[in-house]
Amino acid sequence: MRLILLGAPGVGKGTQAKKLQDQFGIPQISTGDILRAAVRDKTELGMAAKAYMDRGALVPDDVIIGIIRERISQPDCEKGFILDGFPRTIPQAEALDAMLAEMKLNLDVVLEIYVDPEKIVQRLTNRRVCSECGAVFNLLTNPPPADGKCPNCGGVIIQRDDDKEETVRNRLAVYNKQTAPLKEFYSKKGILKTIDGDDTVEEVYRKILDTLGLEKEK
Ligand code: AMP
Repeated sequence: MRLILLGAPGVGKGTQAKKLQDQFGIPQISTGDILRAAVRDKTELGMAAKAYMDRGALVPDDVIIGIIRERISQPDCEKGFILDGFPRTIPQAEALDAMLAEMKLNLDVVLEIYVDPEKIVQRLTNRRVCSECGAVFNLLTNPPPADGKCPNCGGVIIQRDDDKEETVRNRLAVYNKQTAPLKEFYSKKGILKTIDGDDTVEEVYRKILDTLGLEKEK
């Protein structure tokens, strides 16, 4: 299964991608996670990307395309992959098409998760994440432990710099301008499906499996 999860920041792409990864054993490829790891490790890539990320702007296409080219040619992607946060621009989508054509592969489906933008602002400004393992919490719906330590790995739970309200609003504007045109791009290819993401994690997961014609793990 080769799948793209499309949707504005904060609709739950990462959470749902992890669930699919756990159930079906195909890797989640999150360009945001790859970039954050590079920033944390202070690599050349991380240093170049940080300024864009901090203001909620997109990292240049050629950098991102290079990351994906390298990642999808790894052996663990042979059975498929779940792209989370890529592509985010038309040139990225065109580059992905070219890469897949070269590898004689195709995309099965592009699944758009839709949530009302004001609800996204609420979700993201209340989001907290583990600085080590990336586990996600929410002050309103899934509060982190009072000691501020991750129950999975003991890492410190933080607010992402780009989850501050002003940056969130900028990320949504960037999404509308640069990423939303991908809906038409994939709709024309006949592989776009949209689901309502304003629901519990489990309910959204059920809708995704229904849409993909798959069964939930018993
Ligand atoms: P995310 O965790 O997917 O919201 O990504 C966090 C940030 O990483 C974004 O706001 C961008 O600055 C950068 N980023 C992640 N994926 C991409 C992409 N496909 N193209 C450009 N920038 C990206």
